[in-house]
Amino acid sequence: MRIAIFPGSFDPFTLGHMDILRSALKMFDKVIVAVGYNSAKSGFFPPELRVRIIQDAVQGMENVEVCSYRGLTVNFCKEKGAGWIIRGLRTTTDFEMESVIAQANRKMAPEILSIFIPAGHEYSFISSTVVRDVLNNGGNARCFLPQNVDIEHYLKLREQ
Ligand code: ADP
Repeated sequence: MRIAIFPGSFDPFTLGHMDILRSALKMFDKVIVAVGYNSAKSGFFPPELRVRIIQDAVQGMENVEVCSYRGLTVNFCKEKGAGWIIRGLRTTTDFEMESVIAQANRKMAPEILSIFIPAGHEYSFISSTVVRDVLNNGGNARCFLPQNVDIEHYLKLREQ
C-alpha cells in the first residue's frame, strides 16, 4: 500500500491545503494529514483543535487519516509505514525552503521521498497566516477555508 504523509502546521487548514491533499489522493492509496508541533510554539489554534478542523474539512473523503505528531517528520513516516512526504509549493521562496528540508530528510532517511505539488493558481495566494490575520481582526475567512469547517465554533473553543 502506498502511504504518504502530508505534514504541516495547518494553523488552520485552508483551501490551499485541501487542493494539495486532493492531488495527493490521486497518487497514493492513503494520505495521512499530520499536524506537526513542538511545545515551544503554541500557535493560534492548539494542535487538538487543528486536528478537529481538518477532520471536519475531510469529512466524507476516503483514504485520508488525520493525526498529530511531535518530533522529526521522517521518524513519524517510519512509524506510519509511509514512504513519501507531500509538500505544497506556492512561490520560489517555498521551493527554496522546501528543498533544504527535503535534502535534510533525504540524508536522514534516503528511503523516504519528498514530493512537491504546485499550488492551484486560484489557491496560491492563500496562507494560514492570512487566515489568522483575518480572524484576529474579526474578518470573515470563509472564502479561504473548506466548506465543512465552522470556524466560528473553533474560535469560541479556542477562547475557552
Ligand atoms: P509549515 O509550517 O510546515 O510550512 P503550513 O501549514 O504552513 O505548514 O503548510 C503545509 C504545507 O502546505 C507546506 O508545504 C506549504 O507550502 C503548503 N501550503 C500552504 N498553503 C498552500 C497553498 N495555498 N497552496 C499550496 N500549498 C500550500
